[in-house]
Amino acid sequence: MPIRAVVWGENVHEQTNETVAGIYPRGIHGTIAAALNQDSSISAKTATLQQPEHGLPEARLAETDVLLWWGHAAHGEVADAVVERVAEHVWSGMGLIVLHSGHFSKIFKRLMGTPCSLTWREAGERERLWVTTPGHKIADGLPAYFELEHEEMYGEPFHVPEPLETVFIGWFQGGEVFRAGLTYRRGAGKIFYFQPGHETYPTYHDHNIQRVLQNAVKWAHNPAARLSNVTDAPNRPTHEALETLEERGPKLHKPGEGGFR
Ligand code: ZN
Repeated sequence: MPIRAVVWGENVHEQTNETVAGIYPRGIHGTIAAALNQDSSISAKTATLQQPEHGLPEARLAETDVLLWWGHAAHGEVADAVVERVAEHVWSGMGLIVLHSGHFSKIFKRLMGTPCSLTWREAGERERLWVTTPGHKIADGLPAYFELEHEEMYGEPFHVPEPLETVFIGWFQGGEVFRAGLTYRRGAGKIFYFQPGHETYPTYHDHNIQRVLQNAVKWAHNPAARLSNVTDAPNRPTHEALETLEERGPKLHKPGEGGFR
């Protein structure tokens, strides 16, 4: 069975900005999904902000192996309940790929626990992306470096937790560098952040970028069954302890009582 990917798109600038609409007439999400579907091991569909529950109801997330997230202008319009639902699926084993300006999305900040801020400049600079972890599944089939003629500069410091792996570093024409491809694990879920993808440039039409995204979906896919009840915190009764155990000392909780949240 192919890996089931859902590409979530905010779908705002494609509707409101002529330049973006010209580059991405199918939407950024539609272009990314089409690129993923060129790989026969992936079956990609899309979801957008404007759909009921942003296209991500519980039943849909339950049958999503990897979620990709592109947002920029409307992070604040994403319902907190949907963010929490996505977070729980990641902790339970769903893969998550956060793209470009998604660094400020509610879901990325929720899962990182840090400001996720960075420096930036919109000057159409050339970016040179270096593979810093040769042999990594996300870099499979890529050259030692590749270039994008136009990209928005994202610069350090990038206020995220130290990643598990840095797969790419980006160098920009103006001199800055940026940790452009980072991996994380949160619970049973694998997370990849990938920096390129400013909406006024044709980044997602680039073959190397498309290859990274195909690779990342395969890397982030966790074939194990989704964990259940990851947010539960059961109070284990003394009489169910593996060894015979006699309660002693003062207690705060009554038997069977739930803990504080
Ligand atoms: Zn941008």
